[in-house]
Amino acid sequence: MVDQWTLPEIDLALCTRCGQCVAQCPTQAVEMQATGPVIVRPADCTYCTTCEAVCPVGAITCAFEIAWDKSAF
Ligand code: SF4
Ligand code: SF4
Repeated sequence: MVDQWTLPEIDLALCTRCGQCVAQCPTQAVEMQATGPVIVRPADCTYCTTCEAVCPVGAITCAFEIAWDKSAF
């Protein structure tokens, strides 16, 4: 059973609570809470990097890149 996920990192010191990441996450994995955005459903995060792309202040970092090895198919 998988119980660990690679998740985007959210820097709450930079975050302005604009809500863009919450609004545009395609799987509703991230939710706005009193402290700021939190990935409340880590199993639903597909690591699509949309939240990183839409954050206007660069508060979200997807540090890893998923690369497919085309030669394996
Ligand atoms: S990487 Fe994609 S699925 Fe995961 S929290 Fe960000 S927008 Fe949602
Ligand atoms: S998009 Fe960026 S600034 Fe806006 S709530 Fe999400 S992390 Fe914070």
